[in-house]
Amino acid sequence: MRPREIAIAGCGVAGLSAAALLRRQGARVVIYDQFASPRPLGSGIIMQPVGMAVLDEIGAGEAMRALGAPITRLIGCNTPRQNVVLDVRSDARGENAEAGLGVHRGALFQVLYDAALQAGAEIESGREVVGASNGRFQFADGGQSPRFDLVIDALGMRSPLSQQPKAPLPFGALWASLDWAGAFDPAALEQRYYQARKMVGVMPIGKLAGAQRNQAAFFWSLKHKAREAWASGDLAQWKDEVRALWPATEPLLAQINSHADLVFASYAHRTLRSPLSPDVVHVGDSWHCTSPQLGQGANMALLDAFALARALEWQSDLGAALDEYARLRLWHIRLYQAASWMFTPAYQSDSDALVFIRDWIMGPISRIPPAPQILAALVAGQIGAPLSAIRA
Ligand SMILES: Cc1cc2nc3c(=O)[nH]c(=O)nc-3n(C[C@H](O)[C@H](O)[C@H](O)COP(=O)(O)OP(=O)(O)OC[C@H]3O[C@@H](n4cnc5c(N)ncnc54)[C@H](O)[C@@H]3O)c2cc1C
Repeated sequence: MRPREIAIAGCGVAGLSAAALLRRQGARVVIYDQFASPRPLGSGIIMQPVGMAVLDEIGAGEAMRALGAPITRLIGCNTPRQNVVLDVRSDARGENAEAGLGVHRGALFQVLYDAALQAGAEIESGREVVGASNGRFQFADGGQSPRFDLVIDALGMRSPLSQQPKAPLPFGALWASLDWAGAFDPAALEQRYYQARKMVGVMPIGKLAGAQRNQAAFFWSLKHKAREAWASGDLAQWKDEVRALWPATEPLLAQINSHADLVFASYAHRTLRSPLSPDVVHVGDSWHCTSPQLGQGANMALLDAFALARALEWQSDLGAALDEYARLRLWHIRLYQAASWMFTPAYQSDSDALVFIRDWIMGPISRIPPAPQILAALVAGQIGAPLSAIRA
């Protein structure tokens, strides 16, 4: 039997995109989120061609393109030598290959939120989900939802309905959305590294709906353990450290007036064996989370939502549809989780050996064909051709 009544916990990328797609198929869809009024957190995201294809399916692609900034290149330089150790260009996939799109997380949230509401999804805020059983969510206030035919966990990395990640990754990052200023490439994500111990990055993210000025996402790699010391430390001294690594960041640093202007994001790595738990089906980070070094999480969440909607459309039996969903996504997710697990320490760790491999082995190899094409396809989310199976 196809589910007619669907409940989704989590009003993020996965929850909103699943709601928009499933509602269009005629099911009643209710989203529960803990926010008093749903709102996005965080700074910038790169939408890759695979994610944009799903936004197009949802009908939100054009609105997103109008707000975002095309990103044709990821470039990372080692300091103090200033040699390029990472250079991924979207045109390595072909002259007219679609570039990535740098977006403000708030802009992505808004286009998905509008699409879900327009499709007719119902959103209940102020609902902290603590459990799920027998087609119902349990809430922190002791209440529970009505019974649904299908309940979906889109609660993100720390979902109480999923296995908890073992521990945060050693490094996270400080993030801020700032007014675009300075001599940066407006179509590139640029990073500067000192070994893998320090990293500063700048990425164009376009603007929020209704805003005039384009913005940049600024990030600074920081150890989880160093977070409190940073928060109580001298801001001017920290700015000196950033400036020493990349002097061009000065016009962005000038916009940071207090520690509170930056938000610390911690990362964790977890991949459930299957998106199917006895009481819920997982989409997005509640199934698989990792560091954003490869920049795929939101794109993966969109692909999950698309695959789930397609599987429910194709299979009239719910069990068969959920198995189909898992089958459509499993290998792509395993591949990208493994790639992220391998690449992250080359950019965020204390390892000298990995830095040597990054700079003297992987860097030169990455410039020899077909490595540039493979790297560009990896970053675009296209290795494993995830869309062809879902669209078949
Ligand atoms: C700093 C940073 C940079 C990133 N950069 C990129 C990038 O460039 N490209 C990319 O593709 N991905 C990126 N990601 C990853 C991406 O943000 C995530 O993979 C994506 O947001 C996952 O979507 P989700 O819907 O699964 O979870 P989320 O977006 O985290 O949404 C979860 C929702 O659940 C709600 N919620 C949580 N717990 C409860 C509860 N108990 N009860 C009720 N509601 C609850 C939250 O309020 C939220 O609305 C980045 C992540 C970070 C942290």
